[in-house]
Amino acid sequence: MVIGLGRFGTSLTRTLIQNGHEVLAVDKNEQLVQEMAPIATHALQADCTDENVLRELGASNFTHAIVAIGDDLQASILTTLLLKELKVPKVTAKARNEMHGNVLSKIGADHVIYPERDMGTRLGNQLSSDNLIDYIELSPDYNLAEIGAPPAMDGKSLKDLNIRARYGCTIMAIKTGDRINISPKAEDAIHTGDVLLIIGSNDDIRELENDYE
Ligand code: ADP
Repeated sequence: MVIGLGRFGTSLTRTLIQNGHEVLAVDKNEQLVQEMAPIATHALQADCTDENVLRELGASNFTHAIVAIGDDLQASILTTLLLKELKVPKVTAKARNEMHGNVLSKIGADHVIYPERDMGTRLGNQLSSDNLIDYIELSPDYNLAEIGAPPAMDGKSLKDLNIRARYGCTIMAIKTGDRINISPKAEDAIHTGDVLLIIGSNDDIRELENDYE
């Protein structure tokens, strides 16, 4: 169930549907609901700060509710609180800032997301590195990074590069075009154009990138 069909809720609903999920999309704005009607499994106009409305929508039957209300803090907080009171197993709520996020966590949101803050961090990291393509934050200190093989690695094997001993990070896979070499062997070579999947601490990955810039 996606509540709030602004830019975030709309793109989230589209992606969930593309991935084969059933989604009830809800907004208090009728026009946004009509635009979503051909896309979502069901689209309904409703004010989700009303407990009776949420009961009528059968909120407690949903496995996951996402509160994608951004600007109206009161509506975001009240909706999140009601969904948890109705025992929705998983509630993800979008926060505008740390204070909003803290309140959402305190009232029981299972997961709080900060799309603007996180997108800014992600873009900042990508722009700070010539080779970083993408990354997944495993914890605040550890990342799984996708890095374009720097020219200085061309033709060298993992054994030659000795990345684990020198930097403490591990090359988990090498992508060459559409092929992917999972858990490569020591003698496997890296070539320009390859993409490396590297797991390690942020500091170690950064050091490796700086050395090969
Ligand atoms: P975005 O930044 O993703 O565009 P917005 O804050 O602009 O997010 O959009 C949030 C959406 O949530 C709006 O379309 C608004 O109509 C909807 N919304 C706000 N309050 C409620 C509510 N009480 N019940 C249902 N939908 C709501």
